[in-house]
Order: sequence, then structure tokens, then C-alpha cells
Amino acid sequence: MASVSIPACTGALLLDIEGTTTPITFVKDILFPYIREHLEDYLSTHWEEDECKEDVHLLKKQIEEDMKQNRACPVHVVDQTVHTDEEKAIRKVVEDVLWQMAADRKSTALKQLQGHMWRAAYASGRIKGEIYPDVVPSIKKWRERGLKVYIYSSGSVEAQKLLFRYSVEGDVLELFDGHFDTTIGAKVEAKSYERIAEKIGCQPEEITFLTDVAREAKAAEEAGFNVLVVVRPGNLELTDEESAHYNLITSFSQLQLTGRA
Ligand SMILES: [Mg+2]
Repeated sequence: MASVSIPACTGALLLDIEGTTTPITFVKDILFPYIREHLEDYLSTHWEEDECKEDVHLLKKQIEEDMKQNRACPVHVVDQTVHTDEEKAIRKVVEDVLWQMAADRKSTALKQLQGHMWRAAYASGRIKGEIYPDVVPSIKKWRERGLKVYIYSSGSVEAQKLLFRYSVEGDVLELFDGHFDTTIGAKVEAKSYERIAEKIGCQPEEITFLTDVAREAKAAEEAGFNVLVVVRPGNLELTDEESAHYNLITSFSQLQLTGRA
């Protein structure tokens, strides 16, 4: 794979996270298992704290909503190992959360609790955000050349910031000029990229988007962005047609800037 040049007029880079800056397995193999394994401990430790109470309250409201809408709900079995009311209540929340996760629900209640658990895990050093080794040196070079660098990921802005603040490379959050998540729109819709260009204050053709997903690349291209598809271990394979159509890179270091002082 040859190096790819981006034109001098390019004013900003927009980066995807999973499969682009970070191994695609990080979320699946590290972040989600962490919730499943530490949920009960986390609830027991923080049960009396206001933030945790709010999280639990939201989850209960979500379950009530689900029952009203006749969606499938977890069956609560009587657990002989729990004794106090608090233990029972915690066990019930654990079951609810595990059920929601298994059903791949994207409820605000679930996301909020997960966000709080990850924040605690990152802050205590139990989780470190994974970043490919070519990412930080390349971003530093681009910034030295006057480019702005932004993130666009389906993970919440808060989750994005945690990953880069507590990363394997230390706190690299300051390398980014801004963050976007799906509150601006879905990553497979051209309109989202138009909105991002407007927010960044650049013309679409001045922005280069780096992603591993062809459907996202297509949407950005439709919006007029310059697009590079990042090929990393474990990423979804591209079709022959996609591989032929897009400029591909396997490392950020292959991206050369041309025509800039
Ligand atoms: Mg991705």
C-alpha cells in the first residue's frame, strides 16, 4: 500500500475511532466485558451515592417503559445467596442491565450507567484507551503543519474523551480540536458530514475523513469530503470494488501532506 497524499487545501482531519485510531476489539473485548464483570461490585460500592441512585432510577423507569410496551423483560429468579433487601435490589438491577446488554439495547439509562462505570475504571487505571502506535506521532505532525484534528465516533463524546485522556500513550486529549458523536447524525448519512463541516468552519473538500467502514466513507464522500479508508487487523473486509474505489492506508504514517509550508 503506497502512501497517500492529501491536498494542500485540506484544513482538517476527521477521525473515526474503532478500527481507525483504535483496535476494533477494544470495545467488544475490553469495555463491554468490564461492565459485565464489575457491575455488581460497582453497584454495591456506589449504591448510596446520588449519581448511582439516579442511574438506578433511570434503569427502573426504562424497565417499566419496556413492560408497558410489552417488550420482552428479564425474568427475576429468587436467588438464595442474597439476604438483605439491598443485596436483592442490587441483584435485580444487575439482571436488568445484563439483559439490556444481551439484547443490545441502546437506552440512555444503560449508556449512562456504563459511562459512569467506565469513567471510574479509566480514572483508577483499570482500563486504558488503546491507540495504534502510529496515531499520536502522525497527529502531532499534522498539527505542526497547521491542520485541525477532530473525532467522529458512535461512542458518546464523553466516552471518546475518556479513551484519549486515559490512553496507553498517556493523556493525548489535547491533540484534538473537537469531538462529534451520533447526536449530530448517523455516520452513514451524508447530512451528518455536512453538519460537521459547518461546525468545523471548513468547506467539505478541505476535510479528510479517515474510517474503516465503507458505508461511512461513502456518506462522507457524498458530502464532498476527501476520504481515506483505514485497513487495520480485524477490521471488516472491503469488497474488491470498495478497495479499488477508495484510497487505502494501513497506518496514519502513510498520509503525506503536500504543498504546505
Ligand atoms: Mg470504525
